[in-house]
Amino acid sequence: MSGITIALSKGRIFEETTPLLKAAGIVPLEDPESSRKLIIGTNNPDVRLIIVRATDVPTYVQYGAADLGVAGKDVLLEHGGAGLYQPLDLQIAKCRMMVAVQQGFDYERHVRQGSRLKVATKYVQTAREHFAKKGVHVDLIKLYGSMELAPLVGLADAIVDLVSSGNTLKANNLVAVEEIMQISSRLVVNQAALKLKHAAIQPLLDQFAAAVGK
Ligand code: ATP
Ligand code: MG
Repeated sequence: MSGITIALSKGRIFEETTPLLKAAGIVPLEDPESSRKLIIGTNNPDVRLIIVRATDVPTYVQYGAADLGVAGKDVLLEHGGAGLYQPLDLQIAKCRMMVAVQQGFDYERHVRQGSRLKVATKYVQTAREHFAKKGVHVDLIKLYGSMELAPLVGLADAIVDLVSSGNTLKANNLVAVEEIMQISSRLVVNQAALKLKHAAIQPLLDQFAAAVGK
């Protein structure tokens, strides 16, 4: 394959990457929200997009099934980043990774007292590191979605989740009590592809960087 394959996820990553692709002269031929196709052509016959689950983007790029991809820092930290070159923070899909608890749960007091906390999250690696650094003992419970439910039904004392507006927390009677880190999405590149297809990939990287203002 001499062409370039770019892995994207549906939803906010696709939406917020589209203007950056456009700046690099790449226009998708279909909208993944309405099309059921998982391989989407572009106006450039040498560039195609593949639509994968957000957490799978690093995997497709790591193994070279895609040359480039766009993935959140949250996803990249859990993946570990093996085989990936991460040249550019695209400054899109911004949010914060936070610890949240049910309204009325005195998180600070439990931390001070050295309580053992049950924490439910999709982001087990990042959460483990965060609480270890703070010296807080935690039992981590891996979930795949709807983390907000866990404290409400007694599965966990706290959750680690992504927050942007805070509306989902509020709707479920939860409050954010600690910021772990700011999150945005990054461009990831397969390390071998960057060398083998340098002539095709480098101009794209330069155009993305210019579009982001770097
Ligand atoms: P799904 O929602 O289908 O379970 P997902 O949560 O992995 O999948 P998205 O919700 O599309 O996928 O999130 C993709 C990326 O966008 C995340 O990895 C994160 O970097 C970012 N993101 C997630 N939630 C928010 C948010 N509330 N605001 C801004 N960016 C977010
Ligand atoms: Mg989501």
